[in-house]
Amino acid sequence: MSTKTVALIAHDNRKRELVEWAQLNKASMQKCKVFATGTTGKLLKSDVGLEVTSLQSGPLGGDQQIGALIAEGRIDMLIFFWDPLEPLPHDQDIKALLRLAVVWNIPVACNRSTADFLFASPLLFGDYERTRPDFTDYQNRKL
Ligand code: PGA
Repeated sequence: MSTKTVALIAHDNRKRELVEWAQLNKASMQKCKVFATGTTGKLLKSDVGLEVTSLQSGPLGGDQQIGALIAEGRIDMLIFFWDPLEPLPHDQDIKALLRLAVVWNIPVACNRSTADFLFASPLLFGDYERTRPDFTDYQNRKL
């Protein structure tokens, strides 16, 4: 069983919900390597007691840093409680991150029930090998 690497992000109006969810799933989270955007990471450390690698705050580039980690194949799962009720200054970054998660076939939870399903899955700590898309043809298309 390989250790899963999970990226967590919550927008301000959804941080409480993510913290609650992480508290309930702390035992499983502790078996994972965790990355988070700045403020989310701070809360996961202080209120949940998780070991977290905190990146920049989302609006300062944290979402893009997580996107880059996904493109490098270093993230296995994204838990992203984004705010559907308020426009944010970094809406483009959010869209770009969700796009990269689809490009690289990363499981994504954008709400609590999906996160529950992902963390209840026997695949979480099983032998599941995510299919890594092969973009060789795409990369060579202009050659
Ligand atoms: P934060 O960033 O964890 O630093 O609040 C989240 C976001 O707004 O993308």
